[in-house]
Amino acid sequence: MTQLALVIDLNVCVGCHACVTSCKQWNTSGSAGPLVDFNAYTADPTGTFFNRVLSFEVGDYPDTQTVHFPKSCLHCEDPPCVPVCPTGASYKRKEDGIVLVDYDKCIGCSYCAWACPYGVRELDEKRQVMTKCTLCVDRITDQNLPVAERKPACVMACPTNARLFGDVHDPESEVSVAIRDRGGFPLMPEQGTLPANHYLPRRRNVAQTDPLQVVREQNPLRVDGREPAAGLPLSADWEH
Ligand code: SF4
Ligand code: SF4
Repeated sequence: MTQLALVIDLNVCVGCHACVTSCKQWNTSGSAGPLVDFNAYTADPTGTFFNRVLSFEVGDYPDTQTVHFPKSCLHCEDPPCVPVCPTGASYKRKEDGIVLVDYDKCIGCSYCAWACPYGVRELDEKRQVMTKCTLCVDRITDQNLPVAERKPACVMACPTNARLFGDVHDPESEVSVAIRDRGGFPLMPEQGTLPANHYLPRRRNVAQTDPLQVVREQNPLRVDGREPAAGLPLSADWEH
């Protein structure tokens, strides 16, 4: 069975939010939308996003890294959001494994949001229906688009190619090769939901920070308050 999914490379995601804004734009004007916003330019904004990027600082200073972590529905192979739905609105497609919500059946009870361990379902406050990533089902199945563009909007927009898309059940697909060769992992596997989306791990850079850069001993602004002499290279200023 085909299982479509995203594979996200945490090593090259720079947290630019191009995936977030392209997702919002596409799905607001596509069949999943409109994705509402309330009080967007106030101190208390609210609204729906199918994809959000969370940013964390990890490690202890000075050995810290900023990690950008895009998160959307993981299209779990055993999704707890589906059996909990009392109306059958939440369902997983047999032909490609995408988990969707039938807005005509959804009563907005939010049971599915409680059942999802990843916090990726968001209630549309205007329509009172549950919304989530559809893997841009209306793009990827659009026969009028060139084949190369039948990908989720976020994948098309990412400037660093951090987002791959394909069938994780096909061992020769780009996503399966990336998972296999680069140690791809699912989010919170202990939940037993078998997320189809995977992440590729950060790789440590061997470049070391010179201790002098950390304490800034050669920063001229620290030496008697002197600034570098105009027109002289810093080293020359340091020596005179
Ligand atoms: Fe359902 Fe959440 Fe899994 Fe998406 S990530 S399929 S909403 S349990
Ligand atoms: Fe089903 Fe909608 Fe209730 Fe979710 S909010 S459980 S999709 S009826």
